[in-house]
Amino acid sequence: MSKLKFLYIFPHPDDESFGPAPVMYRSINEGHEVHLLTLTKGGATKVRHQFGYSIKEMGEIREQELHEVSKLIPFTSMTILNHQDGGMAKSNPILFEHIIKKHIEKIEPNIVVTYPIHGISGHHDHLACHAIVKRVYVDMKEKHNYLKRLAFLTIPTPDENKHVGGMYKVNTTRNKDVDCEITLNKNEVNILKKALDCYGTYSSVIKETNVINDIGNKVYFEFYNENFNPRVTSINGEIN
Ligand SMILES: [Zn+2]
Repeated sequence: MSKLKFLYIFPHPDDESFGPAPVMYRSINEGHEVHLLTLTKGGATKVRHQFGYSIKEMGEIREQELHEVSKLIPFTSMTILNHQDGGMAKSNPILFEHIIKKHIEKIEPNIVVTYPIHGISGHHDHLACHAIVKRVYVDMKEKHNYLKRLAFLTIPTPDENKHVGGMYKVNTTRNKDVDCEITLNKNEVNILKKALDCYGTYSSVIKETNVINDIGNKVYFEFYNENFNPRVTSINGEIN
């Protein structure tokens, strides 16, 4: 398989660790390039009140926590922008479209990854990020051959008697719409735990969402405008 370039685009530091981290780790180990673009510093998170931090202070801590993750997962590049956290949904989307377009032109990724339409947690920045990235991708794909796939990190709808998200409500994707199911090995499950551990200020949320248990050894993606049944078993499955 030829060397590919992945660009993960998320609104907040920590979004990369709630599931994608071990997949990013695997891609790097397979010799691919993995780039991360984070649009805000995540300082507006409610957990800042637990510690009495201002948005700015919390953003600096979040940024530092993401730098810890990058020691674990050697991203090819990591860009943390400072757009007002919590405000992405309220900001002019054309501003973000422009930023994302410029970044895609610089990296020339083959696979772009972001949140699905439901944003998993439903955070409005996640929803805005989905809409903006999808719009930019579709627009650019016509002119740029390097763009091969748009993937959305997701969770499949569980059986009726099973609940995901701990004390939080999470949104899921119908099973038939999930295109990719990745089984993590033990070392990768460990990477997931270690990546989440980097977010010391978020340890209560990590516990309350039951995220480590829910993920177990599976990470799922939906692909834009592609349908795989059976599901592919790697994020670059069927791409050469
Ligand atoms: Zn987030």
